[in-house]
This record gives sequence, structure tokens and C-alpha cells, in this order.
Amino acid sequence: MGEATGVLVIGGGPAGLAAALAARKKGFDVTVADGAKPPIDKACGEGLMPGTVTALRELGVAIGPGDGQAFRGIRFLDAGTSAEASFSGVSGVGVRRTVLHQKMVERAEGCGITLLWNTPVAGLCGDGAILGGTVVKSRWIIGADGIHSRVRRWMGLDGNVRQEMRFAQRRHYGVKAWTDCMEIHWGQKAQAYVTPLSNEETCVALISRDPRMRLEDAWREFPKLAGRLCHAEPHSAERGAVTVTRRLGQVYRGNIALTGDASGSVDAITGEGLCLSFRQAMALADALGNGELESYQRAHRRLARRPHTTGRLLLLLDRYPPLRKRALRGLAEDPELFARLLAAHLGEASPRFLAATSLRLGWQFLTARIERVKDECVSKPPGSGLLFPGSGARDAVGAERSASACCAATTGR
Ligand SMILES: Cc1cc2nc3c(=O)[nH]c(=O)nc-3n(C[C@H](O)[C@H](O)[C@H](O)COP(=O)(O)OP(=O)(O)OC[C@H]3O[C@@H](n4cnc5c(N)ncnc54)[C@H](O)[C@@H]3O)c2cc1C
Repeated sequence: MGEATGVLVIGGGPAGLAAALAARKKGFDVTVADGAKPPIDKACGEGLMPGTVTALRELGVAIGPGDGQAFRGIRFLDAGTSAEASFSGVSGVGVRRTVLHQKMVERAEGCGITLLWNTPVAGLCGDGAILGGTVVKSRWIIGADGIHSRVRRWMGLDGNVRQEMRFAQRRHYGVKAWTDCMEIHWGQKAQAYVTPLSNEETCVALISRDPRMRLEDAWREFPKLAGRLCHAEPHSAERGAVTVTRRLGQVYRGNIALTGDASGSVDAITGEGLCLSFRQAMALADALGNGELESYQRAHRRLARRPHTTGRLLLLLDRYPPLRKRALRGLAEDPELFARLLAAHLGEASPRFLAATSLRLGWQFLTARIERVKDECVSKPPGSGLLFPGSGARDAVGAERSASACCAATTGR
């Protein structure tokens, strides 16, 4: 039998380290065990939204000018359309994943957190967990072991959960970023995210529903981007990952709580995964301080609502290209609307605005499809088809349903 600890965190990625830092701040003895050793890399868009930088600061991790490259907002590009919005307050920052991890590790060391690297956790047992053949007892256990969480499975919280998975590839290029925004290039089958990291480096992450898609294949979809990057020297190998939209009914059982991607996740397109993990860490530490986990469950549900709404909205645009083209044209013509949407997404404006916009988009799409179907019916000889033939009506109804669901999720109805 090993030593006892107050809080044992399984997984020392950003979510685990954030949970450890927040719990330490509440005065707990904290041990973190991770199967890898720092700095731990992972395929990521590497964009820290303004709220993420603020949350890091609250955890005592300061991101300085030398750590990455500031960006002032978000730009969407699709064929000939470009729409952009600036953040209303502080900038976002593009930071290499390994730099972020190293900074969080240093902070954890400085706070007196026990860090056990190269230490995979093999199972849970009674009041503790099994680390390298030893049982470590703990008052509280936090599962922060990522998207494929084994802790979640050991707790029996994996079953019956709806999820949507997409596939990602990330690579760094030795080229000065041409953009002062984080760019999302929309293609037919994928999006490419461009994040400026420094004067010498740019991060590109490709995300698609097709597991076989690689960056090489994507250049056909993004000729402008290909033109900028085809002669740039790659600074890293292509690294794959999955991004999952998943909401768990329950995020704790007994004295064990899940956090970060282990506790459910939003699609990477939201750019909010890290911020969500850091906010969860603070809510979890509050609950531990009160000696109960039910308040964490409630806070977790509340924190997830907004990013999940935007995620669904953006995935709707991914799934229905005609809707996307209309929506992006609308945003390009009305930058103020885009700025308000961005502010709502980042929690700086009312979520009801996001819901109303979701419905508006759904309605626009529905009316556009109905007009098109009507035109098709008029141009066809009588009796040659149904009133709403083919996929048109189905797409329209699907889009409207998804938009209504977004609205219900946001307003809680
Ligand atoms: C392509 C892509 C792009 C993204 N872009 C962004 C972005 O731009 N901005 C943003 O905010 N978010 C982004 N995200 C989301 C973000 O990367 C995740 O939300 C974040 O990594 C979650 O951190 P985590 O600590 O929960 O999981 P992870 O980073 O996966 O860490 C889990 C840790 O647990 C350890 N572990 C696993 N099993 C065990 C075990 N049995 N014992 C011990 N240790 C274990 C692993 O070694 C790992 O270190 C992106 C995600 C993807 C896939």
C-alpha cells in the first residue's frame, strides 16, 4: 500500500494540471499521475481564446508575449467569401501545445504539487488507484485522462452517450503568419484552422468527417492556403487526433469526478476545449472545498451549455454547404452581427442572442430550400415528382430541427 494523498489526479494534460492547480489553491495535498512525460504534445489548433488566457491567469499561469503570437479575432473563409470579427476585449494567443504544457507544469511544481510522470494508472481500487503496481489512497480522485478516458469506463459512465466524432491532423510550418486573426478555411469536406504562433511559425489543423483525410489531400480543397504553405518548411510531423462532441449525463460517482475531455467534450471548431477544462477545474475545486460533488455536476452542465450550442451551430454549417454560404455571406455583409455572435460564443453577451441567430439561420435555410424545391416542381412536367422530392426537404427539416435544438439547449427549454 502506498501513501495517502488528498487529491489524486489521473492525467497531467491541461485539464489535469488545471484541476491540480485549482485544488492546491484550496489547500489540498495534490498528486498528479500521467503515463507520459512533459512537455506532452497533442494535436490541437493551439489557439487560446481571450477567456482561456484569463482562466489560465486565474490559475496562476501567465502567458507572456514571448510564449506565442497574439491574434485579434476570428476570420471565416469560404470560396470567395471572407468574414471576420474582432474580440471585444483582450486578444487571443496562439501558443504551441508543448509550451502551454511546460508552463503549466512549472506552475504546478512551484505550488508543491507532486508530479508523477511515466506513471500510467492501471485501475481504481477501493479508495484509491493503482499506479505502477502500488495502490495510492486518496480522499478525492479526479479523472482527467482525455477523450478516450479509461477512468470514465471504470466508473461505468461511458454507456448510452450520444457522440459525434471528427478526425484531425495538425502540423507546424516554418512561415510567418500572414494573418492577425485565427483563420478557419471552410472546404467541402473539411476545415483548415490556421493559428499564428510566432514570426517564424504557423500552426495548421485540418478537421474532417473522413478519417482518411490528410493535409496533403486537403490542399485541393484550399488552394489559397496551399499556395502560402507549399514551399514552407514543415517544423513538425503530421499528428492525428479525434475531436468528439459528447455530453455525459453524470460526471461524478462517489469520490471520483471527471474533468476536461474525459468529462465530455465540444468539437474543436469551437476553440473552447481548453477554456472549458480550466473553468471546470475551478468549479471542481470549489466543490471539493465544500466536501461534495453535486455542485460540480450542476456547474459542469451550466459551463457546457454555451460551447455546445455554438458547436452545434458550426457543425450545421459544416453539414449544409448552401446554408454555410448564405450564413458566411450574411456575416461578411454585417460584421457587427459577427462580432456580437463571437461575443455571445465567448460568454461576453447574452446566450439568447446565439439561440435567436441559430433559429434565424435555420429559417433562412428552410425558406431557401422551399423556394428551390418549388422552382424545381414548376420546371418539371406534372406528375413527375413529389411536392418536396429528394433530399431537399429532408435537409431543410434536418437543419430546422438542429437549429431548434440549439435554441432549446441555450435557453434551457
Ligand atoms: C484537432 C484539435 C484542435 C483543437 N484546437 C483547440 C484550440 O485551438 N483551442 C482550444 O481551447 N482547444 C482546442 N482543442 C481541444 C483541446 O485540445 C482539448 O480540450 C484539451 O486537450 C483537453 O485536455 P485534457 O487534459 O482533458 O486531455 P489531454 O490533453 O488528452 O490529456 C490527457 C492526459 O491523460 C494522460 N493519460 C491518459 N490515460 C492515462 C492513464 N491511464 N494514466 C495516467 N495518465 C493517463 C495522457 O497521457 C494525457 O497527458 C482541440 C482539439 C483537437 C482534437
